[in-house]
Amino acid sequence: MTIAQRAERVRARLAHTGAEALLVSDLTNVRWLTGFTGSNGWVVLGPDQLTLVTDGRYGEQAARQMALAGVAAEVLVGATGAETQGHLAGLSRVHRTIGFEAAHVSVQQHAAWAAAFGCTLVATIGVVEAERRTKDTAEIELIAQACRIADQALAEVVPTLGNGLTEAQVRNQLEIRMRELGAVGPSYDTIVATGPLNAALPHHRPTDAVIEDGHTVIIDVGALVDGYHSDMTRTFVIGRPTPLQRELYELVLAAQQAGVAAVAAGVSTKQLDAVCRDIITEGGYGDWFTHGTGHGVGLLIHEDPFVNRAGDAILQVGDVVTVEPGVYREGFGGIRVEDLVVVTSEGCRVLTASPKESPCPPFPPTI
Ligand code: ZN
Ligand code: ZN
Repeated sequence: MTIAQRAERVRARLAHTGAEALLVSDLTNVRWLTGFTGSNGWVVLGPDQLTLVTDGRYGEQAARQMALAGVAAEVLVGATGAETQGHLAGLSRVHRTIGFEAAHVSVQQHAAWAAAFGCTLVATIGVVEAERRTKDTAEIELIAQACRIADQALAEVVPTLGNGLTEAQVRNQLEIRMRELGAVGPSYDTIVATGPLNAALPHHRPTDAVIEDGHTVIIDVGALVDGYHSDMTRTFVIGRPTPLQRELYELVLAAQQAGVAAVAAGVSTKQLDAVCRDIITEGGYGDWFTHGTGHGVGLLIHEDPFVNRAGDAILQVGDVVTVEPGVYREGFGGIRVEDLVVVTSEGCRVLTASPKESPCPPFPPTI
């Protein structure tokens, strides 16, 4: 499967929407369809035509990136915003109907298009996303590479935990090492959350708080490689765990391992969430698990399919999703364990490899 074949996948799906062509305005979708990474671009996808419209900064870049991706598409450059919109109007009016991406178009933009296009605009939802969700071999390899970089950076930084470092210092080290190991940067703002207050916030931003003996420390780290993200969380206890820290680590780990074992094509995201949530609830800590079990990962760090109580998606081969139950309580701190997996015909393949065996490995030296 190559980038050039993606347009055909979208055309097949478009046939069910009632629109003859699709105007793609979401830049992540534009990138996935064409390989073009600029910050200004629209794609018009017709039954036998693919055109990228961009501004003067990107004409050459778009042509090069699409040639590299093997995508045969015309590039139209608008010198002004009005000229760009004129190109889109010209491309649209040859069709009776054109779909637009309802989740990515403002009311103002829609009104301008409705006045200028001379064809019927049809709201579509998630047409490209539904195809983008299924990763091909090349995409899975980039995500796996991003996972390996985060694994390596974490392995190097873990032995320094508890040596008087702050959350922010650990974050900096992780991000520097990921860049040195070949990442474009972190996949998202790295989370390092320590102690009874900060670790109780699932998405805490690192501060100057010092990581101290007795703390639980949540590290949520991913790398970005050629546009593709990775996502992983490990939790550590500095020094000897208390009975409660040990009990909760083992509970979260059991839930997470059961979740990974349950990932398979045909399983609903709601069922997968329940596998993890039921274990934590039966352990007596259901209200400490305050978020969904996971999410898709690809060109975006959070994308379809979302794995939570309301999830109605069915997992399919090629989905890349996280499994990340956690428990949080002010005064205790928090524990989360997160792996990134790809759904295969046999179940799933786990892409993140950092150790997670109980009890909270390793015990970093505190002196
Ligand atoms: Zn994460
Ligand atoms: Zn995540």
